[in-house]
Amino acid sequence: MSELDRYHRQILLPRIGEEGQRRLLASHALVVGCGALGTVLADALARAGVGTLTIVDRDTVELTNLQRQVLFDESDVRETIPKATAAGAKLRRINSAITVHAHVDDFNHRNAERYAQGADVLLDGLDNFETRYLLNDLAVRDGIPYVYGGAVATGGMSMVILPHPDRRASPEPRSRVRWTAEQSTPCLRCIFPDAPPAGSMATCDTAGVLGPAVLTIAAHQATQAIKLLTGNVDALDRSLYSIDVWENTTRRLDVSGARDAGTCPCCVSGRFEFLAGEASSATTSLCGRNAVQITPASGEASPLDLASIATKLSAHGTFTHNGYLLHGRFSDVQGDSGPVELTLFPDGRAIIKGTTEPERARTIYAKYVGS
Ligand SMILES: [Zn+2]
Repeated sequence: MSELDRYHRQILLPRIGEEGQRRLLASHALVVGCGALGTVLADALARAGVGTLTIVDRDTVELTNLQRQVLFDESDVRETIPKATAAGAKLRRINSAITVHAHVDDFNHRNAERYAQGADVLLDGLDNFETRYLLNDLAVRDGIPYVYGGAVATGGMSMVILPHPDRRASPEPRSRVRWTAEQSTPCLRCIFPDAPPAGSMATCDTAGVLGPAVLTIAAHQATQAIKLLTGNVDALDRSLYSIDVWENTTRRLDVSGARDAGTCPCCVSGRFEFLAGEASSATTSLCGRNAVQITPASGEASPLDLASIATKLSAHGTFTHNGYLLHGRFSDVQGDSGPVELTLFPDGRAIIKGTTEPERARTIYAKYVGS
């Protein structure tokens, strides 16, 4: 038995072959976020034989995850296992020949560089733009391809970011993947300069999500990662790919001119605001109140529409609003002792009562308020 035997069907593909397989085995992928997208990405890459996988996620497995998060089962829910731990254990059973590093942690500007050490590709399994911009900063500064993905309701988007060498901190990329300036793409901030206002975007927890819609986006992301890691840069999908599996629509938006046309703070001006922590949201534990305050990085340009956020949240508890704030209690989110309460102000600031853990509060904010 050779170590390549299990990959026989993949090696048969002429664009992969034995050489491509050996490249995969020698490569390292970082998957940030291990929810719906992240579990599919990690599953696909472990089976494909990516030699080292690093997974980072701050959350635990919940019953409502099982509808779409393919690496988890009911025993993970019963035992309240962290997602990264459960995924790591499952992936090692799927492929014991690869190395899996699973970290239960909040991926942020303080630890991003450490977790990305040695990574050849950064894979987005995230639910918020702040952390996506952090990955994007890291990709551009260090020369690591970044595969963006996002899915909600019945559709989603995906795009490969091959950073331009202009802003790279060192002459050679940190990734083992090689590409030319001509092959480079705009970065995520060339396409989406700012995060959508808090509460303006649908999230899987407010608008719902169809399992196969997520699978489709994650499959697109995983395919691009395999192309990158096998040296098939010329085969990449270079568009902003979007699909709605319910409406039967697929789009490939040509974004190739977005870098030259814009004034991107990241890949044109070289300001890595998210990596520097300058643009991070702040969380403060409110001493003695069993609550955490979340202050978004930049105040919202216009006040949040508290009425529409209250409507979106109505499936999850009782929420009321006046001109100054939205307040309510979740019926389906448990805190340290009893249900979690949310107070949200028009500038995006929130107080989440029922926990003293900043990571837990950020998870709840990303899920139910969004961004
Ligand atoms: Zn850019």
